[in-house]
Amino acid sequence: MMNNAFSRPATAAIHYELLHQTPLGPQHVTSSGTATLLIEEKLERQSQIALKVGDEVQTGQKLSPFTDRPTYAISSVTGTISSVRPMSGDFGTNYTAIDIALAATEVMAEGPGEMEPTLENLTEWLAGAPGKPPLHLFRSGDQAIHTLVVAGVDADLLVATNQFIIKSEMHAINRGIDILKAATGVSQVAIAVPRDLVQGFGHTGADELKAVASEYPAANPKLIIYEAFGQEIPAGKSCEELGFAFFSAEAVASIGKAFDTGRVPIEKTVTLVDKNGRKTIISARIGTPIADVLAAHQIQTGDGDRLIVGGPMTGSAIFDEQRPIQADTDAILVQGAADVSLVSDYPCINCGECVRVCPTRVQVNMLVRFLEAGQYEDGAELYDLDSCVDCGLCSFVCVARIPIFQYIRLAKYELSRLTAAEASNA
Ligand code: SF4
Ligand code: SF4
Repeated sequence: MMNNAFSRPATAAIHYELLHQTPLGPQHVTSSGTATLLIEEKLERQSQIALKVGDEVQTGQKLSPFTDRPTYAISSVTGTISSVRPMSGDFGTNYTAIDIALAATEVMAEGPGEMEPTLENLTEWLAGAPGKPPLHLFRSGDQAIHTLVVAGVDADLLVATNQFIIKSEMHAINRGIDILKAATGVSQVAIAVPRDLVQGFGHTGADELKAVASEYPAANPKLIIYEAFGQEIPAGKSCEELGFAFFSAEAVASIGKAFDTGRVPIEKTVTLVDKNGRKTIISARIGTPIADVLAAHQIQTGDGDRLIVGGPMTGSAIFDEQRPIQADTDAILVQGAADVSLVSDYPCINCGECVRVCPTRVQVNMLVRFLEAGQYEDGAELYDLDSCVDCGLCSFVCVARIPIFQYIRLAKYELSRLTAAEASNA
């Protein structure tokens, strides 16, 4: 069963909040003593690692910890490496964490300097820059990207990071667009902005502006392609398979700044939402512990409070405040215990709300029965898991408080593992 056409949610719409005024600037948060850089590679044994505890590093220095892999991190601080350790994340993600004790005096490393705008240079220096430019999309041999979409919208509710960047860093974005055009040869560049803010944009380096509706989840990349480009994404296909590469506004601005200054940017912009729903745009160096961000804003967490990285619909709860700000940490949301929506093990009452609200018309009430039972392949085949665009609305409306979206994420993860295992056995 395949549902290709998207539809608007049938229940009362939830709207994104717009940044009508350009805030003066992000409030800067400094680290209190350590920074932790994460590299998305599994650390199996210390003998793989070229870095040693006690090594001194400078701000902007490229750190390539693995002797047998090209992955790297750009040090956001000056200091001494205090540990290199394995760390696990959501759904089987493995990291190598490099902890750095900050020195009293900052020393700037040379950085890339003046670069030619080539994909090799971008990949060599900017893969972990703020916004995490998905440069790999231009390197895959089995897809041809014809359109670069610069997302000046944030896909989740309450998050305003890319709205902020598009309003305050247009010069860097235009420069980044020029660099990306030269480096990738992409033929078309569009900037996606909230519909209500389209009028305020003057000249941009893009070929066109695309207006994104204010109803959640209109800023989801697949829905942008459907609504703004008039193209349906067949179930199971990704945006890049249809030739669209989405870069956040921050990722493009990072590229522009790197080519303007000869240094890799290290400051990440983040939307911080406190327990009262108060929103602040902050900036902190990549690697800054989230605990330092909370402390700088006098936010304390207690029993039952929840810390979420990302927005309320699709973000992930974390349980360690020492987790660092990463290149793609767009939001930190603190929910007070009273606002945390509890899940239950009540059975589905077949109210149909999840089906009515789903933008891709997945028969969620039937799908979730299979996923609860761990029958991922059957559920995906019979009830169209591949059409799901990960908006989380089904969980949000479920009256039985079934954690539907968590089941969906787990199912997609397990199915991707099966596919990978089959491919490696073929
Ligand atoms: S998360 Fe739920 S509501 Fe959203 S697309 Fe997937 S199944 Fe539909
Ligand atoms: S919203 Fe929840 S209770 Fe209602 S049909 Fe969907 S899964 Fe069942």
